[in-house]
Amino acid sequence: MKKKLCIDPGHGLGNRSKEVYDPGAISAGVSEADIVLAYGLAIKWIGKSRGIDVFLTRESENEVTPVGRRDNLASEAGCDLFVSLHCNAASPSANGTETFYRDDEDKKLAKLLNSAVLAALQFRDRGVKHESKTQHPRLSVLDFDGPACLIELGFISNTNNREKLLLRSSRLAVAHAILDTLEKEYGLQ
Ligand SMILES: [Zn+2]
Repeated sequence: MKKKLCIDPGHGLGNRSKEVYDPGAISAGVSEADIVLAYGLAIKWIGKSRGIDVFLTRESENEVTPVGRRDNLASEAGCDLFVSLHCNAASPSANGTETFYRDDEDKKLAKLLNSAVLAALQFRDRGVKHESKTQHPRLSVLDFDGPACLIELGFISNTNNREKLLLRSSRLAVAHAILDTLEKEYGLQ
């Protein structure tokens, strides 16, 4: 049976506190929330051109989406797969792509999408990482009832990663890579 995909662009309005806009990491005037929203919209748009209906947990910076509600929003929209998009920030030298998952059933999805994003962006592979349900509020989205993972696309605190993440060509490449992989491995409706 074909699956319905949810893409969750991390952060945004009401993410952690009501009525407060959470930009996520900020580096050189670029915010994580803006970058991942642009990637989410690109995936939805490319999906549409391919006849695939992608659900986004937020489609604009004005949409209120508490982090604790996002997995429910996806379930209510009838989604079977949940992919959260984020960017890292750390020292200027830290760089690369990494993907988090919570349960063993999610490891396959995490591995497939980590590879897909790496093929599109050609960043350093920081690997697929298991995170238990503890200190990380952003990982509460992984409570989704079905395969779920959280991709840290790259580091916006690293000049090379940031500049490449901002390119339209990168958004299109990532969108196609994610959709290609999911269509092949899960089927998408
Ligand atoms: Zn984040």
